Amino acid sequence: MKAPPFIYHRPDTLDEALGLLAEHDDDAKILAGGQSLIPLMGLRMGRPEHVVDIGHIPGLAGVVKRA
Ligand SMILES: Cc1cc2nc3c(=O)[nH]c(=O)nc-3n(C[C@H](O)[C@H](O)[C@H](O)COP(=O)(O)OP(=O)(O)OC[C@H]3O[C@@H](n4cnc5c(N)ncnc54)[C@H](O)[C@@H]3O)c2cc1C
Repeated sequence: MKAPPFIYHRPDTLDEALGLLAEHDDDAKILAGGQSLIPLMGLRMGRPEHVVDIGHIPGLAGVVKRA
């Protein structure tokens, strides 16, 4: 099943992403890789109006252990 309609946001900076999340609050969900969110939306178990894709923000691409 296809996900219901939603507005896709692709912020380039962390500040922009945080601004979108603050603006849309409970109506927004973060998309990281989409492994879980997109299937859930397809099953109608999640219906966010706004999806904020953080996959292109520099510095959020991985987790690094600091010494
Ligand atoms: C077919 C399949 C196989 C899987 N296999 C494994 C496996 O082998 N091992 C394993 O550990 N997991 C597995 N998973 C689970 C999956 O990897 C996790 O659910 C993981 O969270 C998905 O990451 P994602 O980046 O794709 O997140 P998304 O699908 O984009 O998001 C998942 C949820 O986390 C929220 N979210 C994402 N990023 C953030 C953030 N930065 N801050 C706050 N909320 C956030 C989203 O809004 C959403 O609610 C599998 C899932 C599927 C569908």
